[in-house]
Amino acid sequence: MSTHADTGATDVLIIGGGIGGLVLALSLHELGVRCRVLEAAPEIKPLGVGINLLPHAMRELAELGLEARLAAVAVTTRESAFYNRFGQLIYREPLGRYAGYEWPQLSIHRGDLHAVLVEEVRERLGADALVLGHRCVGVEQDAKGVTARFVDPQSGAPLEARKGSVAIACDGVHSVVRKQLHPDEGPPVYSGVNMWRGITRWKPFLSGATMVRAGWLATGKMVIYPIRDGIDGAGRQLVNWLAEIETPQHATSDWNRPGRLEDFIGAYAGWRFDWLDVEAFIHAADSILEYPMVDRDPLPFWTAGRVTLLGDAAHPMVPRGSNGAGQAIFDARTLAGCLARGPDGAAALKAYEAIRLEAANKVVLTNRATPPDVILREVWQRTGDKPFARIEDVISQAELAALSGNYQKVAGYARDALAGRASLVGAGRSGG
Ligand SMILES: Cc1cc2nc3c(=O)[nH]c(=O)nc-3n(C[C@H](O)[C@H](O)[C@H](O)COP(=O)(O)OP(=O)(O)OC[C@H]3O[C@@H](n4cnc5c(N)ncnc54)[C@H](O)[C@@H]3O)c2cc1C
Repeated sequence: MSTHADTGATDVLIIGGGIGGLVLALSLHELGVRCRVLEAAPEIKPLGVGINLLPHAMRELAELGLEARLAAVAVTTRESAFYNRFGQLIYREPLGRYAGYEWPQLSIHRGDLHAVLVEEVRERLGADALVLGHRCVGVEQDAKGVTARFVDPQSGAPLEARKGSVAIACDGVHSVVRKQLHPDEGPPVYSGVNMWRGITRWKPFLSGATMVRAGWLATGKMVIYPIRDGIDGAGRQLVNWLAEIETPQHATSDWNRPGRLEDFIGAYAGWRFDWLDVEAFIHAADSILEYPMVDRDPLPFWTAGRVTLLGDAAHPMVPRGSNGAGQAIFDARTLAGCLARGPDGAAALKAYEAIRLEAANKVVLTNRATPPDVILREVWQRTGDKPFARIEDVISQAELAALSGNYQKVAGYARDALAGRASLVGAGRSGG
């Protein structure tokens, strides 16, 4: 394994300590490459709601030795089930190990995932590896290295600049570094669908570990899945939900913006399934957040010399395939391998881009056009948004399985291909 001493790519500056930045830090540390994470937030808070880690992401996190720790604070998802808005079952398929994968699918609170990564970074790399309260405002470079400039996010006062051999921008959908590399790009692209997200404490439904997608975007779609078990003596779970509705209006994309029940609850009036009273379930939410479904157009390049983009900074995608975190983790693992391979930091960033850019851009475009919930659109269109007598008369199970299987291939988690492929870290180290 390469060590700090025999790689030139020492002192990697990681800008942004979200999911991608922290997985990159853990991966670099494992390979002996020194790094430091600079995060804008002044303190770590359990932000966000639910997030899914599919088997391809879990393979990487398991290689980092994190599977047991994450599974302890997550729900191991058993199956995916699709319904129309009348509560009729369209399609069901097992997930993760229940589908024969070597790795599970976990549904987890983003705050819990983030907290595990923060603790692991501090334990493995040392307390000073993650520096809070540093908002990056720009990166400069010369032939020898990079200098990143920071301000205090609260006062705006300049902070000491940080030097490194390369800078990796993991600063999310509103990336400052992306703006520096691509100054003419506008704001994120609105999909025409607004989202309201929340968490409700509820008794287990269906298998107790089912990821449900129901309805359709034109009239109101719901995504519902549990993210934490046994939260009280009554055996309730924390259940994540997402209401997605086509609407021309939307607010700016702020992950922490509060949402209002009255803005969307009308779409779910009368949604009472045998196994869940959806309307009552939404009413019982602890809190509601609003977020527009946005992404950005694929970029022609992420790397400029000693600076590159990773995760949402590189390829933010609409959350219709549970792949935002997964693709960021793929980037982080691939890039760590490239950086550990040799002394030329700029060449490593180019090698990473050559491996990842096209694949990630394809996921962005597929999430727009044919993500897994295309199953719901097909049935909605073919039935004219009416109840059906028998699903077989609308669409065959083979056709439904093919729609699901196509996305698995694009996003890199088709079961047999995933089991058979080389380690992402290793692929980077051999030059990809
Ligand atoms: C507060 C928050 C809540 C979220 N909630 C959800 C959710 O509920 N469900 C879901 O599916 N996805 C959620 N996401 C997005 C999800 O984490 C990402 O889509 C995905 O995991 C890819 O990770 P990433 O590391 O690229 O980006 P992110 O996880 O978004 O991380 C980006 C990090 O960079 C930091 N940052 C931003 N600008 C700067 C700067 N200028 N200088 C330094 N640091 C900076 C941010 O504070 C953040 O920690 C959330 C993201 C955030 C930041």
